[in-house]
Amino acid sequence: MHIYSFRRFLISQIFLLLSPCILYAQMGAQWRVHDLNRPQPPIVTPPTQFLPITAPSDAVVLFSGQDDITKWVGMNGQPTKWVCKEDYFECVKGSGYIKTKQSFGDVQLHVEWMAPTPATGQSQGRGNSGVFLMGRYEVQVLDSYNNITYPDGQAAAVYGQYPPAVNAARPAGEWQAYDIVFHRPRFNNLGQLTKKARMTVFHNGVLVQDNVTLWGETDWKKYRVYKNHPDKLPLSLQDHGNPVRYRNIWIRELEEIPLNPASAITPKVTLSTEALQKYVGTYKKEEKGEHQIFIEDDTLWILAHGSRRFELIPQSNELFSARFTAIEVKFIFGENGIPAALDYTFTGYTHRATRSD
Ligand code: MG
Repeated sequence: MHIYSFRRFLISQIFLLLSPCILYAQMGAQWRVHDLNRPQPPIVTPPTQFLPITAPSDAVVLFSGQDDITKWVGMNGQPTKWVCKEDYFECVKGSGYIKTKQSFGDVQLHVEWMAPTPATGQSQGRGNSGVFLMGRYEVQVLDSYNNITYPDGQAAAVYGQYPPAVNAARPAGEWQAYDIVFHRPRFNNLGQLTKKARMTVFHNGVLVQDNVTLWGETDWKKYRVYKNHPDKLPLSLQDHGNPVRYRNIWIRELEEIPLNPASAITPKVTLSTEALQKYVGTYKKEEKGEHQIFIEDDTLWILAHGSRRFELIPQSNELFSARFTAIEVKFIFGENGIPAALDYTFTGYTHRATRSD
């Protein structure tokens, strides 16, 4: 074998040997549910926060300490056995999950919680509870301070799906905060999924879930797909057998933001290029400066203050609106039927400019 072709042969053999490793490395970006081989999120000391963080005025307060546990019931709708003490309430083993009486869809949610002290148990058995958006999508509550568990099941994980980006846990016995932005999944009239749910989570002020897309409902050991459900459902908290405490829970309902909020003005009248010709000219402001009106691509434009140009869309013979910017230009006609001046309106202020050509 020629030396060059032998080298090529050798390289190809090495590549063949390595290819399963390359394939494995690529697959490494994905993990099975509760995979312990998944990298542990790096530990981050969270910033000092002065908890409780009080509710903004438009929030629905779900627990403030003053109001007992009246906004929550057991999953069967009956009063819960979770106990209310001072400014917090506490899970009672075996009493079951609790849920809000009110239902919610897209929300901003603030929850403060504390894992029991002294820290006992390990992995999933230590300070376990959970915040279930719509009763289906869990942000895990767990004592994750010096407590190794499968990464997609530690504190602030979207349970079984996304570990937190970092571990920002505080020790048991200290209050911790979750700030969650949740966008519910969308289903069409036939109950088919049209949009998956998304979640952003701050744990103790640290971003740990960055607008992640949920692939379905969260569950223990299970990969679940979406099931059709109402647009609003109660928020629930998990009884996992540990006396986890909660306080200062408030929620803000979010308006759906349209995909592209930019709007453009459309013409209300049609003016030919010849008809537009009569507006063309220089209009001088009373104080300083001028506006140029000109035609380009069969459209009327204004060069305002000699710097910025705006496409003018006719709303009538007199009134033109800038296509994308909230500017109105109203022409004042002389007796000869030709514009003699214009009124330029922007952010509530109008100034007049008089034709000078
Ligand atoms: Mg849990």
